[in-house]
Amino acid sequence: MQTAAVIPPLNERPIKNTIVLFDVDETLTKSRQGVKPEMLTLLSALRQKVAIGYVGGSDLAKQQEQLGTSEIPVTSLFDFCFPENGLTAFRLGVPLASQSFIGWLGEEKYKKLVNFLLRYISEIDLPFKRGTFVEFRNGMVNVSPVGRNATNAERDAFNAFDTEHKVREKFVATLQKEFVELGLTYSIGGQISFDVFPTGWDKRYCLQHVEAEKARPDGVDYTTIHFFGDKTSPGGNDYEIYSDSRTIGHSVKDPDDTLAQVKAEFFS
Ligand SMILES: [Mg+2]
Repeated sequence: MQTAAVIPPLNERPIKNTIVLFDVDETLTKSRQGVKPEMLTLLSALRQKVAIGYVGGSDLAKQQEQLGTSEIPVTSLFDFCFPENGLTAFRLGVPLASQSFIGWLGEEKYKKLVNFLLRYISEIDLPFKRGTFVEFRNGMVNVSPVGRNATNAERDAFNAFDTEHKVREKFVATLQKEFVELGLTYSIGGQISFDVFPTGWDKRYCLQHVEAEKARPDGVDYTTIHFFGDKTSPGGNDYEIYSDSRTIGHSVKDPDDTLAQVKAEFFS
């Protein structure tokens, strides 16, 4: 069904210089769930016309679970796969150069940041604290004043306390002042933590891989970049790439809406 041999090379797709990128959760699949067969059929048909790719915040393993099967690697279903917003990337199934938070920041600056975080956390007075206050991830650091080991009930309790006392807001404001020269973005999300990552390392990060294509001997200058995503309002994780001047943004409600919009755009 998804045979690589029948897919035209990137520089021979009928709609020239065009790539279509998709968010994953609530755009190609329901949140954290598997893809429906009609979506895979549509993507396969679309791939006959244009280059296709996805860009998701999670890692490849999660996307393999949602989009692939034990027989079908997710990297064979798209021309471009951009897990972790493109910090890791695959082109026609082959990995491209990857990037990490520590690689970008360097050990010295990272150490200063973590020392400051831990000192600040040690001095906040909360009704209770648990463990795992700083979690190091490939593309970011996740910071939780109460600790990620908190139970669901403790998360609720911290969240109520945070709403009243603005613990995370004040923490972020302090970091913004202290580390102004590092070029970091702070994103408060979920109940108990916030993320710290280099400015620009949202979904726009993957566009540098798309732009690099034109320099390849068999590469394409993608002058038309469509993006479909569901969290396209300010504060949503699709907002930056959706509103970027390099893309044509499409806001979808859910995967069914993606099916309808892609059909209207490319198959009518
Ligand atoms: Mg989404």
